[in-house]
Order: sequence, then structure tokens, then C-alpha cells
Amino acid sequence: MNAADDKTIVKDYFNSTGFDRWKRIYGQGEDVNKVQLDIRTGHQQTVDKVIGWLQADGNLSEISVCDAGCGVGSLSIPLAQEGAKIFASDISEKMVEEGKQRAASNSKSSENITFNVQDLESLSGNYHTVACLDVLIHYPQDKADQMISHLCSLAESRVILSFAPKTPALCILKKIGSFFPGPSKATRAYLHREAKIVKAFENNGFQVGRKEMTKTRFYFSRLLEATRK
Ligand code: SAM
Repeated sequence: MNAADDKTIVKDYFNSTGFDRWKRIYGQGEDVNKVQLDIRTGHQQTVDKVIGWLQADGNLSEISVCDAGCGVGSLSIPLAQEGAKIFASDISEKMVEEGKQRAASNSKSSENITFNVQDLESLSGNYHTVACLDVLIHYPQDKADQMISHLCSLAESRVILSFAPKTPALCILKKIGSFFPGPSKATRAYLHREAKIVKAFENNGFQVGRKEMTKTRFYFSRLLEATRK
């Protein structure tokens, strides 16, 4: 399968069955099964870690954040509530529509977020911080390298990126099919070697600083902050 196929499949998925599934996982309702609840918990931990990093820097109300592949706004909405100017975009119009609706219930978030339906490869502009959470899982390494390069070109100061790490344990889980059960049913799930991600950042003049790992039963996400050298 080539990268263009991956992208079309991912877009169609997040505009159809994937949308129904992930809007529930990234929600608060009880309409989720045990596996989905576990993924919800893990994903929320990743989001909370990013928010914690940005809050610790103490300048949230002064910065612009590009949330590339924003989904339903799980990161964008709380950051906007903290006063950051958010440019949220996603390849799926359904995810963006849901994000807009969620943001509308809070005046500060709707005031501070601009939503767009756009693939991250075509984003332009300059932002203090570029975030891209749990998107690379849908793409192979060569495509991930191109995406990282583009995200770096948009970032004045740093890129915050999460991905599913290629560890021996996860490779086994993936083989037996119990890893990231959501996307893997309809789309491929790609694991990435951390060394390759770090190298991609270095090739673009960025160095990795803060790191986190979130691990629940079914959710695995490595989180890196790469700052411009
Ligand atoms: N980043 C969000 C979060 O953590 O809540 C959503 C993560 S979800 C697993 C992956 C998202 O990436 C989906 O909303 C999907 O539509 C989006 N996506 C996939 N490929 C993309 C691309 N090439 N450009 C922009 N968004 C993309």
C-alpha cells in the first residue's frame, strides 16, 4: 500500500465508522466498551501530560499552537480555555465539525480556536508550538519523516509529537491484534522506532527534550517535545 492510499483510507475512515467510534472514545459518555474505555483513559493521560508541560512553561496565554490532526479538539479545547491561540485542523470534516460543536459550549474556547478541515501536509504559517498527537500511527516511516519535516517548518519554537513506539512487546501485541483495536480493524496501525523519529527531528534542526510514555492495557503512546536548536 502506498502513502496516498493510507491517507485516503484514513480520511474515509475518520469520516465514517472511525468517526462514530473515536467521537465516543474521545468523549465522556458511557457508550464505550472496556477496551474503548481503556483507550480513552490512556489518551486522556497523553493530553494531560502535554497540558502539564505547557502550563509549567507559564506562557500559555501568549503563544499560538497549531494542533495538526486535532480530532475532536481533545487538546485544542483545554489549551484554548487556558488562553492560547489555537489553529486546529484535521483531514476529517466530521471530526472537525464535532470539535467545533464541543468548543462552542465554552465562550473562551470558541473565541480562541480556529478550526479548519485540512491535511497537515498542506498547512502553512508559523506557530510558536506545533502539536500532533496520535496521528503518525496511521502512516509508515517514510511518510512520517515527511510529516515531521513539514511540522518542523511550521514551528517557531517546538513540535510536540506522540506516536506508538516500535518495541518488542508492542510488535507482539500488534501481531495478535489486540493493539489499538480501533484503527487496526479498518486501517493499518504503524509503529515507529523512537531513534528514527529523533533522527527526523535532528535532520530538521530540532532536538528532543522532554519525553513521556503513556501505557495502559490497549493504549501506548510515546510523547516527545522537540525544540528548535
Ligand atoms: N490528535 C487528536 C487527539 O489526540 O485527540 C486525534 C487523534 S486520532 C487517533 C487521529 C486523527 O488524525 C484523526 O482525527 C484523523 O482524521 C487525523 N488525521 C489522519 N491523517 C491526517 C493528515 N494527513 N492530516 C491531518 N489529520 C490527519
